[in-house]
Amino acid sequence: MRAVVIESKGAEARVVEAEEAELLDGEATGELVELDVLYSSYNYKDGMALANRGILRSYPAIPGIDIVGRVTRSDSSDWAVGEEVVLNGDGIGETLRGGFATRARVRPDALVRLPESISPFRAAAIGTAGFTAAIAALKLEDVGVVPDSGEVLVTGAAGGVGSIAIALLARAGYRVVASSGRKDEQGEYLRWLGASEIIDRRELSDEVGKPLQSERWAGAIDSVGSTTLVNVLAQTKYGGTVATCGLAQGPDLPGTVLPYILRGVTLTGANSVYAPRDLRERAWTTLADRLDLAKVDELTTTIGLADTIPYAERILAGQTRGRTVVDVDA
Ligand code: NDP
Repeated sequence: MRAVVIESKGAEARVVEAEEAELLDGEATGELVELDVLYSSYNYKDGMALANRGILRSYPAIPGIDIVGRVTRSDSSDWAVGEEVVLNGDGIGETLRGGFATRARVRPDALVRLPESISPFRAAAIGTAGFTAAIAALKLEDVGVVPDSGEVLVTGAAGGVGSIAIALLARAGYRVVASSGRKDEQGEYLRWLGASEIIDRRELSDEVGKPLQSERWAGAIDSVGSTTLVNVLAQTKYGGTVATCGLAQGPDLPGTVLPYILRGVTLTGANSVYAPRDLRERAWTTLADRLDLAKVDELTTTIGLADTIPYAERILAGQTRGRTVVDVDA
């Protein structure tokens, strides 16, 4: 098998060709499912892993938090040889060996059967970013933020989570406003995804404004955190909900409690890594039903296994757009 391997903390990543036992033995215990990896995908977190920014917690490590694969052996009666599955998170590419490899051994509980309408390539293109966008969109919907509620804001708009969030929400009938630092360069792309309006992210990210600002958003999906999220909360309408899922600007939240206690605003979290199985299945069904899959192709770039190493710098610098599939056989 071939894989991107980081031998020890701080070591440089390299592409290794070795016997499967050498790269995969001795890590996971309990029931396992073995897979041929068909595709992986590139997420912000993979960039952090490859740049040695504290994501990897066990060595030797194989990055890659997404796998779309075909079952070749299974200890679990839930999964049969030949079935195509998708796995987002559950510790792969962090504490367990991940998807930047041609083979994988994974736990059965977080696997989802690939929906019939989604090809393996498209499932990888959606990946953790799209899966998280779907979880966040469901969080809004479940508390009653619906298209009639008013405008919803998506921050980090040209990134992976942001792009799929816009496409999902717009197709469901929401009026979506996109916040991007690349308004001029990516404006056309964001409108094509379904954004009705684009605002410059600096309006939100540069400084913390008043604790309560003019009410605008019925809801928001934020993958940026920090000052941006504080300002989004301060602009959220009475009773609105903001789903937070990322920290591209920073993990801090330098705000006040006023939006919550004076406007009844809710801040809810969306996490993909340890999502329970029923939520995983619901999110993938939502993606299959609601996402314009032809759009997904258009917003996706494909790279090979060895390309994953230099690509880290680009995603961490916010220079990538949309989604990136890793073709592990290329
Ligand atoms: P991407 O790199 O694809 O997108 C991030 C986007 O954020 C960029 O494209 C850019 O959008 C914006 N951005 C980047 N830097 C800054 C900055 N300094 N200030 C404000 N905006 C910035 O990453 P993903 O979409 O894959 O992930 C986004 C975040 O969500 C990451 O923090 C990631 O770790 C997190 N995440 C969390 C998950 C969970 O389970 N909770 C799952 C998946 C991702 P633009 O150019 O349009 O402004």
